[in-house]
Amino acid sequence: MYEPPIDFQIAGREGEARTGALITRRGVIETPVFMPVGTAGTVKGIRFEELESPDLDARIILGNTYHLWLRPGIETIRACGGLHKFIGWDRAMLTDSGGFQVWSLGALRKITEEGTEFRSHIDGSLCFLSPEVSMEVQTVLGAEIAMAFDECAPGEATRDEARRSMELTLRWAKRSKDAFEKLQRGVLPLPLGEGGKQALFGIVQGASHLDLRRESLERTVEIGFDGYAIGGLSVGEEKHVMMEVIEDIAPRMPADKPRYLMGVGTPEDLIEAVARGVDMFDCVLPTRNGRNGQAFTSRGKLNIKNARHALDQKPLDESCQCSVCRRHTRAFIRHLYLSGEMLASILLTHHNLAFFLDTMKRVRQAIRSGQFAKFRREFTEQLHCGLG
Ligand SMILES: [Zn+2]
Repeated sequence: MYEPPIDFQIAGREGEARTGALITRRGVIETPVFMPVGTAGTVKGIRFEELESPDLDARIILGNTYHLWLRPGIETIRACGGLHKFIGWDRAMLTDSGGFQVWSLGALRKITEEGTEFRSHIDGSLCFLSPEVSMEVQTVLGAEIAMAFDECAPGEATRDEARRSMELTLRWAKRSKDAFEKLQRGVLPLPLGEGGKQALFGIVQGASHLDLRRESLERTVEIGFDGYAIGGLSVGEEKHVMMEVIEDIAPRMPADKPRYLMGVGTPEDLIEAVARGVDMFDCVLPTRNGRNGQAFTSRGKLNIKNARHALDQKPLDESCQCSVCRRHTRAFIRHLYLSGEMLASILLTHHNLAFFLDTMKRVRQAIRSGQFAKFRREFTEQLHCGLG
């Protein structure tokens, strides 16, 4: 009997916004969900105990195929029993396909029908990534959700460029699915020897051209995936263009499958995308900006380097209940940051992740209780009223 690798159940709706549960072999993930990014098997600056703590309670994190494939390498991870066992994370994971990272290398890569050739950013050696290689690596990594190998067109791509890229992505989607199915049938053993199998998501491309986006969605759904993602956004296009694409495409995506917006965005972007029907998000902003001294708060962004915080006895965010905000002042965190203490990055990362994850929790509660429109309005108003 066929058992789907994941199950997705909608528990409530308000307008296009949905809340529900994504059921995986490693636990239930309530949606809409934010997934912290663990590039090289680590969510930078934070221990897994903290990610699992009630403060954050991250149910799913991301792993990067490109980075893990180059270092420590697929054979090391296979020998260590798959990515969960290797890094010591028992909850769910999603791996990207490596397509976006390779695309981001710019002039260092060459894209052909077969795949992408590029120089490793670590030692300059020549590497080749294709749908088949990506599926093999992702099968060994063993995340609950794997992603099809795609090609991304820049946000301002012309129609011809976007069409060419979209067609290539569709051919690669088919090859990804074929290779993935063979691997899942046991050509390679599952690293963890678990009964459950992995899910594979397809990716919609087409830059900012809505007709191409719609065609990409339709033809990706024809191939058939366990969930669908909107890729190729937040890559240089203007924000209103990004929102127009999400508004047009998300509601057309299969209603009974999770919808994932890749690599976006600020807390405000997340809420606006939820309002347009998106269920899953990932972004490096809370961790990366945390390391650069920036805190996301309910009253907008706070730059801890700013001299106005030198004697500031307030927490990063007066509305935040995270352990950092319960204990430390802006003045102290600023001192740590200016002294080059690693604790500054750790504290800012913790708070930022807590803020993103708590915001999504409040979004879920609001949709369930039919208060999402009110929540969205109040959240946005507060965000623009300035720091306390
Ligand atoms: Zn906090």
